[in-house]
Amino acid sequence: MGIAENIEKIKVELPSTVKLVAVSKFHPLENILEAYGAGQRVFAESRPQEFHAKILELQEISKGVEKLSTGAPAFSDIEWHFIGHLQSNKIKLVLPYVSMVQSVDSLKLLEEIDAWGAREGCITNVLLEAHIASEMTKSGLSINEIEEILLGGQEFPNICFRGLMGMATFTDDESVIRADFSKIKNLFDRICSAPASEKLKDFSELSIGMSDDFEIALEYGATMVRIGTDIFGPRVY
Ligand SMILES: *Cc1c(COP(=O)(O)O)cnc(C)c1O
Repeated sequence: MGIAENIEKIKVELPSTVKLVAVSKFHPLENILEAYGAGQRVFAESRPQEFHAKILELQEISKGVEKLSTGAPAFSDIEWHFIGHLQSNKIKLVLPYVSMVQSVDSLKLLEEIDAWGAREGCITNVLLEAHIASEMTKSGLSINEIEEILLGGQEFPNICFRGLMGMATFTDDESVIRADFSKIKNLFDRICSAPASEKLKDFSELSIGMSDDFEIALEYGATMVRIGTDIFGPRVY
């Protein structure tokens, strides 16, 4: 099946309120443009250099393409999300081009994004990545750290907290996946029911679910699913 058919098939399963994020890491720009042609507008990448190279390539291509009907440059309606581990020395390759960083996995990174925003005069949309899987190798903030950031007194003037992201344990055991999603859903609900605050005024997104488990994630209140393989096929590492 082609990319367009794959997207169609997934969309049939998604409620209209759930955003489909197409994960294009390891796939060439050509495949991204094929998905774009099929109407997909939200894409996610996880490796800073690879992402940056694709952005430059896209800027090059868009010069040769007619403007959108709005008069904006071609492809400027693509919304990029970053979903991988971001080291401080790489933030300049990523932040200027993304509408959201879904993978804030440490307080240090959050502070650095905030400081970058102060220098550049912009606000960055972020999701805090919760460590919900049983594998220690996966990254993410602990539940306590997330509560401290969102409910504690420290201010982050150049950050807009949009919600939480999580990855379930890599396993065939559905009960383990359900337990992971349940953990992040409970945390999400607890934060949503906290007293109203400036920090939480735009907090509404729960990004859970990938190719193998997005149907389950929908049962736990996913508002975004991040799907790579089911759209673009297997990645060649
Ligand atoms: C690669 C990746 C995905 C997509 O995984 P698939 O199984 O290919 O759908 C989703 N989220 C994150 C954080 C990823 O790194």
